Amino acid sequence: MRSIAALLVCGALAWLAAARAPAPTPPVDDVCPYCENDPERLAAAGLVSHGPIDLGPTGSAGVVASLPASQWVFLESEHLRWGMSVGSETVKTKDRERLAPELDALREHFPAIPEKVKKLDPWLRVHLMAYRGERLYERFQAILRVTDADFPETRQADGPYMGNGKYLGESDKFEVLIHASRKTHILYTQEHMGVGVTDSMRWHFQGSHKMFASIPAVDTDIRYDRYLWAHTAHNLAHLFLCAYKHFSYDPPTWLDEGLAHYVEQVVEPEFHTLDGDEGSLPRNEGTADWDKALRTLLRRKKLASFAELLRVDTFGELTQDQHVTCYGLARFLVEEHPAEFAAFVGAVKGQLNEEGYPDGSDLVGLQRAQLQELWGWAPRDLDAAFAAWLEAR
Ligand SMILES: [Zn+2]
Ligand SMILES: [Zn+2]
Repeated sequence: MRSIAALLVCGALAWLAAARAPAPTPPVDDVCPYCENDPERLAAAGLVSHGPIDLGPTGSAGVVASLPASQWVFLESEHLRWGMSVGSETVKTKDRERLAPELDALREHFPAIPEKVKKLDPWLRVHLMAYRGERLYERFQAILRVTDADFPETRQADGPYMGNGKYLGESDKFEVLIHASRKTHILYTQEHMGVGVTDSMRWHFQGSHKMFASIPAVDTDIRYDRYLWAHTAHNLAHLFLCAYKHFSYDPPTWLDEGLAHYVEQVVEPEFHTLDGDEGSLPRNEGTADWDKALRTLLRRKKLASFAELLRVDTFGELTQDQHVTCYGLARFLVEEHPAEFAAFVGAVKGQLNEEGYPDGSDLVGLQRAQLQELWGWAPRDLDAAFAAWLEAR
């Protein structure tokens, strides 16, 4: 394996070569000032291209042609594709420290990023998202205890069932379209998802087997890079879980939302996205500190029981207390019982019927059986272990 230093030298040589060559002159906005759209430098950073790239049913060119915006930028990485029309953002003093590690990591590959970044321009914003998306993918694979090598390109006759493709079980990459205007978000969901929705919307494109999220970065909270990423991470966690072993049926609601809350909490402890029946939106009501909220629920004996959460079928049914409890359960299981939890999720996401086809029937029974098999627990034993863990924190 080549060292990072060698990669940097190659990157620098490619840059010099590019600088000497008589450059074609595309409009300024089409060239990223950091990587200069140079395929070699992008590849050295684990990236593919600034476009045109595949994205949704139309590709990036279709996005540009059909959705009016002052500028669309795109970036494809190893497992994700991004399209964004958001503008520049001035870096606040209080955000410098938070951004520093990410910008340092990007600067290793793209030395044109200044030491002191005053403004996140659209190119830097899409590079940041691509970087964060891949780190999140790694973290999610660590929770599931899988690696890329576990997912063959197509379903194999022998070996465990892992879905139908190398992206956690889907055959194409994860895609995120972030809009500066709600209008283009609604247009897009109307055209490609059959329903115009106001808030963030996730979708599985069945023919191409890829998972997609359309996000309007419009309201003051998620227009801000910091919270936009938390909200996006929440949505990506849903996409990753749904994709795992192929999206053949909906995962249990408590698990789907709980894991997304946990992932979002790790990214940004005091920002929360809540899914309802009409999409996914930031809704930061009540105590921002959900660990504190959990202790309050415990003290007031208002934690939702696992038996009760098993019966919740849709996001819209979840009460605020149940959202918080789902978060707590996911956190407890990921942090205290990582191996068992990974096995539990694997079983729940990959149920097959007698003919060997994915089968989402009786997921409540399956979860009870897995709880018994992996931990020797009935639902009330999980409640007790969870409460004892909270008590001791
Ligand atoms: Zn670039
Ligand atoms: Zn959610």
